[in-house]
Amino acid sequence: MNWFTDEAALQRITRRRLGAAFEHAQPRLTTLGAAAATDGARWAQEADHDGPTLVTHDRAGNRIDEIDYHPSYRELQKLGYGSGIVAATYDPSFAKERGDAPKSLTFSLGYLFAQAEAGMYCPVCMTDGAAHLLRKFGTPALKDRFIPRLASIDRAQLFTGAMFLTEKEGGSDVGQIKTVAKGGNGTPGEAVTLHGDKWFCSNVDADVIMILARPEGAVAGTRGLGLYVLPRAGDDGRRNGFRIDRIKDKLGERSFPTGEVTLDGARAFLLGGPGQGFHQMTEMLNLSRLYNAAASVACMRRAVVEAMAWSRTRVAFGKPVIGHPLMTEQLFDMACEQRLALNWFFRGVELMDRCDFGDGTPEERRTLRMLTPLLKYVLGKKAVQVCSEGVEALGGNGYIEDWPVARVLRDAQVLPIWEGTSNILVLDAFRALKKEAGHEVLFAEVEKNIAEAPVDLQGRLSKLLGELAEALGHIATDPDAEHVFRDWTDRAASLWNITTSFSKRLGYGTETDVRAARRIFERSFPTSLLRRDRATVAELEAVFSK
Ligand SMILES: Cc1cc2nc3c(=O)[nH]c(=O)nc-3n(C[C@H](O)[C@H](O)[C@H](O)COP(=O)(O)OP(=O)(O)OC[C@H]3O[C@@H](n4cnc5c(N)ncnc54)[C@H](O)[C@@H]3O)c2cc1C
Repeated sequence: MNWFTDEAALQRITRRRLGAAFEHAQPRLTTLGAAAATDGARWAQEADHDGPTLVTHDRAGNRIDEIDYHPSYRELQKLGYGSGIVAATYDPSFAKERGDAPKSLTFSLGYLFAQAEAGMYCPVCMTDGAAHLLRKFGTPALKDRFIPRLASIDRAQLFTGAMFLTEKEGGSDVGQIKTVAKGGNGTPGEAVTLHGDKWFCSNVDADVIMILARPEGAVAGTRGLGLYVLPRAGDDGRRNGFRIDRIKDKLGERSFPTGEVTLDGARAFLLGGPGQGFHQMTEMLNLSRLYNAAASVACMRRAVVEAMAWSRTRVAFGKPVIGHPLMTEQLFDMACEQRLALNWFFRGVELMDRCDFGDGTPEERRTLRMLTPLLKYVLGKKAVQVCSEGVEALGGNGYIEDWPVARVLRDAQVLPIWEGTSNILVLDAFRALKKEAGHEVLFAEVEKNIAEAPVDLQGRLSKLLGELAEALGHIATDPDAEHVFRDWTDRAASLWNITTSFSKRLGYGTETDVRAARRIFERSFPTSLLRRDRATVAELEAVFSK
């Protein structure tokens, strides 16, 4: 298999987004599409099975805090970073391949890689996130020191990234952070020492860590937080002043280490002080929320790929299971959800390219602000559902770790949790509504999409949109309405997700896009139990591959 050339929908998106650069990027995408589906898939299975271990001391009793990885993890690093997922945005030698859409190249590559290994995709995400923050807020010295190595495709030169926010007291409520930064007078780039502990530290042995801490004497809450760059090694190459106390025993994402850390005078450099630090960190979170959505779509795709492959050859009651009407329906729902997710996700990527690297309009910025929490929230939830269906599609074998779908489901289960839980994202979406009138851009875009929908659906879609606007009028004026935010968000996001696939304007609207969107619309907003849009195997195969 080749996960790039086998998925026509992805090729269409990448071709459209990259424009003239596509012909330069195509060989890279095709190479990764083949490698992810073969060696990458095998390495992922092995790296998950034999996860990392923490080595706290050397044989002479010296503290070393090193992580011992399975060789397959090292191979995955060469594949993932070497393919250019991070470099695509920052490395000048990628200019021809990325054109004016660096994130489209980054996410097309990342989507392919994450189908093999959604685990190590988390360190890849944080490496990009660290480079992103340094590019935006770093002093020239910090940029020169770290960005080229964070963006390296050479494993020997590579610096990987991490972000340490969460403490024992809380991840959602980061305003509670207690880690203290001592020294300094608030000059960007200055050195401070950090004291405290962090409770969830993925890619814990990263070289470049973005970390939130509170300067001595700063006010409580998020306004008092500063953002710092914490290198793993000091200027002299020796271990910086922090200990890895333990690595966690996780349900999924087992190929890479998530640790607990004590900071004991570690030397770090200021990016932004109180009043700026938390705001700057949200820049990284916005990028990592898109990464999370990419991982969600990738896990869904892997589940569909595995379920399709199995169902075509598994015979029950005299014929391949794919042809049994209920199985056809189950697979069709999975494939349609995945198609819609892919299209909707790349709408977000397009906006990020325009806003961060192009001349995005204020309206596009507001649209991206509104869309990002919705993508992360909705697609994370859908990934768990679709991957769970994928396990069931393989019957008993699906539950056994010899097959990849069990791991993919375990990995997917974290997607609704980290980078903000579902409730936190719903609250964030409401913040975007209230502070930036995000509903105006949401309604405007969905309205345009509805105008491109099949004529027989336009009336129902418009009525649903009208109901949302009416409900918002009540919610916005009711101080006690927080408990209904989630229902409202579910419905608004669902309409945005579905109608995006109708839109030729946004690059979608093919026969298979429309079929998938129609199916999920009928499923999400049924008018009758006697559904008339029964799927055929031919339609299923078309949505899967065309
Ligand atoms: C495998 C893994 C790796 C991780 N890696 C990292 C990492 O590298 N760096 C890092 O900083 N963090 C990391 N995290 C932490 C992660 O970001 C947090 O777990 C997450 O943000 C939730 O925070 P919490 O665990 O403190 O839960 P809590 O904040 O205690 O939330 C508990 C529950 O309360 C709900 N809740 C909280 N506040 C509200 C509210 N106002 N309204 C409604 N419901 C609410 C939440 O939705 C959740 O269901 C990782 C987590 C996992 C599982």
